[in-house]
Amino acid sequence: MRAVVFERYGEPAEVRDVADPVPSLDGVVVRVEATGLCRSDWHGWMGHDPDVVLPHVPGHELAGVLEAVGDRVARWRPGDRVTVPFVCACGSCGACAEGDQQVCERQTQPGFTHWGSFAQYVALEHADVNLVAVPEEMSFVTAAGLGCRFATAFRAVVAQGRVAPGQWVAVHGCGGVGLSAVMIAAASGARVVAVDISPDALDLARKFGAAECVDASTAGDVAEAVRELSGGGAHVSLDALGSPATCAASVGGLRRRGRHIQVGLLPSAAGDPVVPMSRVIALELELLGSHGMPAHAYAPMLELVRAGAVRPDLLVTSTIPLSEAPAALAAMGAAPGAGVTVVEPQR
Ligand SMILES: [Zn+2]
Ligand SMILES: [Zn+2]
Repeated sequence: MRAVVFERYGEPAEVRDVADPVPSLDGVVVRVEATGLCRSDWHGWMGHDPDVVLPHVPGHELAGVLEAVGDRVARWRPGDRVTVPFVCACGSCGACAEGDQQVCERQTQPGFTHWGSFAQYVALEHADVNLVAVPEEMSFVTAAGLGCRFATAFRAVVAQGRVAPGQWVAVHGCGGVGLSAVMIAAASGARVVAVDISPDALDLARKFGAAECVDASTAGDVAEAVRELSGGGAHVSLDALGSPATCAASVGGLRRRGRHIQVGLLPSAAGDPVVPMSRVIALELELLGSHGMPAHAYAPMLELVRAGAVRPDLLVTSTIPLSEAPAALAAMGAAPGAGVTVVEPQR
């Protein structure tokens, strides 16, 4: 099969022929029809993720058709249309027993712990625990984003954020996951303040339901701007980018008893951000992480998509063949840009 391979961190990846994957007993091989390009792929390519072993194939936001199924897989057949959370759970550890597959103790992540979906085929583990059926009416390009940015945003806003209608939600960073969060929060009846340094990203945020926008490149004190626009601070605030500055601004923009949700990955190379814990005490803030979403929790999100209340399809601004993926991967660091690029490996 053809796959995007890199031999060294931060040096150009290339498309080459590699061996086809075979399914493990509990696993499957998916013919990849669409795979989203995500900032996490760029972090992996740069060497920021300790799970990545060279040479490596990135890609974790995928949808496609089952090509081969392991002997112990009960629920799936070749030809099924599927997607998968970026965290693939083991199904048998303590976290999995609690229904918290998103923090599985023995998780695998395509594109990180093993070769990913920037390829014509990808192997996935523990298929009965992790696969999600893609409805007939949903395109693979739309479905590709569900397992990372959209599901992560959904869990962050709805499950971790516990957003209620009429509340203020601040979203710091309006890339793929941030714009997804804007959509989902607006669909939940919240009033959204979107924050970014890109006017294009803020235009999209407004289009997707943000009531207010803050241009962080000109706003000066971003946290103060959010507090002013939201009448005293957000009830829920997401750092959807992942940086010391956006994390601090998110915590700083909360009202009393507000909830900060850390969604954007904070690469260890940059060190842990400084969090104003005195503010956390004085205002009784909650600080929560959000790490994907388990396959069993997809149904309400898929129903929201089916009903047209959220439009993950509108987040995709370009589709490219596999041959253009190496350059697009490299460009992700310098200019994440507005909107989402999806790779179609069969093209
Ligand atoms: Zn992702
Ligand atoms: Zn587990």
